[in-house]
Amino acid sequence: MDKKIAFIGAGSMAESIIGGLIADELLPPHHILAVNHSNEARLTHLQENYGIRTFSDSADAAQEADIVMLAVKPKQLGDALHAAASGLTEDKIIMSVLAGIKTSQIENELPGNHPVIRVMPNTSAKVGQSATALAGGSYAKEQHVQAASELFSSIGTAVVVKEKDMNTVTGIAGSGPAYFYYFAEAMEQAAAASGLPEDKARDLIIQTMYGAAVRMRESDQSSAALYQEVRSPGGTTEAAFREMEKHDLQKSFKQSVQAAISRAAALG
Ligand code: NAP
Repeated sequence: MDKKIAFIGAGSMAESIIGGLIADELLPPHHILAVNHSNEARLTHLQENYGIRTFSDSADAAQEADIVMLAVKPKQLGDALHAAASGLTEDKIIMSVLAGIKTSQIENELPGNHPVIRVMPNTSAKVGQSATALAGGSYAKEQHVQAASELFSSIGTAVVVKEKDMNTVTGIAGSGPAYFYYFAEAMEQAAAASGLPEDKARDLIIQTMYGAAVRMRESDQSSAALYQEVRSPGGTTEAAFREMEKHDLQKSFKQSVQAAISRAAALG
């Protein structure tokens, strides 16, 4: 991709995306610019580890870039836009990974008709495996959405959705990796309690999650059909499911995902 991208906010999400872009070689490191608020150490870390260029002034970074990636916390949006404003001309594509923030909120903060793309990646971007959803705002044209798709396809899977679905996507894919780590932790604890060495349990759990994901992707069977396949009557999986059903784990998990979706809506 022959573009420069400026990250406004150099926290963990920015680093995940930067790490993925560098690993995929979609952009050379010197086409990646980053600005951070008060934490100089973050910039030094990114410079040393990825060879990217860092800036102390958001407007300077925005001015030099073709794409401006907003990667601050939602409540920091106003300040971040204000600081970058003089560099944000209408020829820049503004991409925002801010959970719950609508494209219209960003459009309304800026004078003129800026192409804004709302993006919801997840932290697996760092290893090139993000599940990313994106939606274009009022002034985003096909080529702007295409540019975002190309960028995020290089670090996983990118799906274009309607903006009304972005909060749902946030609850599923934005927060999603944490759910799987949480279940992995429970499996690790159960394995440890039964005396299995930690490193062996970890290897097996990782491959089990990975294998299940690949199997699900390559199969046309529903999730329910896939777990029913493992759940033989009277077997070990059946014993686990009886326990999960006793606690209505699926209902509780569904409610948890819905809480994430509601939180994404509340942040906007
Ligand atoms: P984070 O680690 O706190 O990073 C935010 C960074 O922005 C901090 O380094 C902060 O610097 C910097 N910053 C704050 N105000 C700024 C300003 N005015 N100008 C320049 N930099 C500024 O947060 P994060 O986890 O990366 O999340 C960033 C965004 O990604 C959030 O909006 C979140 O909704 C979204 N997101 C996160 C995930 C995830 O899994 N983490 C997934 C999808 C989307 P200081 O520390 O110096 O204040």
